[in-house]
Amino acid sequence: MLLRHTHKETKERSALTINPAKTCQPVGAMYAALGIHGCLPHSHGSQGCCSYHRSALTRHYKEPVMAATSSFTEGASVFGGQANLLSAISTIFDLYEPDVIAVHSTCLSETIGDDLNQIIQKASDEGKIPLGKHIIYANTPSYVGSHVTGYANMVKGIAKYFSETSGSKTDFVNLISGWIEPSDMREIKRLTKIMKAKTIMFPDTSDVLDSPMTGKFEMYPKGGTSISDLISTGNSKKSIGIGHWATKDAAIALDNKCKVPFDIIDLPIGLRGTDRFIQQLSKSAEVKIPIEITDERGKLVDVISDMHQYLYGKRVALWGDPDQLIPLVEFLVDLDMKPVYIVSGTPGKEFEKRMSEILGSKVPEAKFKNGEGADMYLMHQWIKSEPVNLLIGNTYGKYISRDENIPFLRMGFPILDRIGHSYFPTVGYMGGIRILEKILGLFMDKQDAESPESSFELVM
Ligand code: SF4
Repeated sequence: MLLRHTHKETKERSALTINPAKTCQPVGAMYAALGIHGCLPHSHGSQGCCSYHRSALTRHYKEPVMAATSSFTEGASVFGGQANLLSAISTIFDLYEPDVIAVHSTCLSETIGDDLNQIIQKASDEGKIPLGKHIIYANTPSYVGSHVTGYANMVKGIAKYFSETSGSKTDFVNLISGWIEPSDMREIKRLTKIMKAKTIMFPDTSDVLDSPMTGKFEMYPKGGTSISDLISTGNSKKSIGIGHWATKDAAIALDNKCKVPFDIIDLPIGLRGTDRFIQQLSKSAEVKIPIEITDERGKLVDVISDMHQYLYGKRVALWGDPDQLIPLVEFLVDLDMKPVYIVSGTPGKEFEKRMSEILGSKVPEAKFKNGEGADMYLMHQWIKSEPVNLLIGNTYGKYISRDENIPFLRMGFPILDRIGHSYFPTVGYMGGIRILEKILGLFMDKQDAESPESSFELVM
């Protein structure tokens, strides 16, 4: 057993996290930056940090992820990285010709105290930023928060830098995208198109991290939100932040700068999560909900009622990011399943409140925790003390799945050992059907593998 040292008795831990349910801030900042067309992310720190951020994204999306680094060595680590960043800015614009450089800091540059705003201003004063090119930045010290915090910080940086107001409002609604897959962003855009809503989505990694093989290397794939769209977000009549943790700060920044009122909603995962998104979009964009959308909803409800007997009462353990976990747990409760254990390494007080509201009287035995100490070790301890029927989370759950022989649905970030997430969405009503298809497939495969011959069923 790979995790044979996990004991089922839990003890209070105050200064130790074992197998955290999160990764580092710059990974999120880099992912958000890739959602701008023609953008090269830049990691202001050591080469090792940048390699890790890039490889984390490449392993999940199965695409090459381009990024530059300030390449700190001993000198920069002691005296600061200003000279490295200034010289990197010149080299990047000369050699790689991006429209935007998105700089994020790292643990090291934050600890030294490098002031990114001041360094970028100096680059501008020294004429290192060519006309029509842009540098945005986000502070992403990884000793606080998580990859979700880093994503939120960069999205805020995008909104603060680009949005401009001309004084008159347009009919457009900004969709500030939380951390979801390129496939999910594509699906949300498909739904908005069916509803004939005029929207600007940012960031948008569809056609960046799920781009087709063309035989030709594209340093900057065709996807990503264009700079002109980013500028015009300041004239939109409304913003919808999709995911509280990932988008709230950006929505506030946009409102402060350009007076664009906003609503923040959950990710459209599951039945009620998608209902709220559709209703919010209908209200904000002042469009009707067409029959195509109602039909998709009806299909999801049909699958739920057809397959209810396989789902009822099944105990589930989940880990990942709060924005995904909240609507997903709500969906499982709607399916009459029992999400009993939930952990997230991303801090934030709202998590406990939302989980209490959703699980409350429906699953009173549920245990949930986020932030410090909410790790995969604790999750395994809970499972050892009372098992579950299903695991849902990122790849790091495969050790628990193997040791405890529990079916495992991979969802969230990172998924390092399966494909499909970049291409098949889990948001929207059709995404809800995909989640159900995956869960049911796991349960039925297990039943087929373990049932005695006398009860082996052809028709299920
Ligand atoms: S040092 Fe900090 S920024 Fe660099 S990889 Fe580690 S956690 Fe991330």
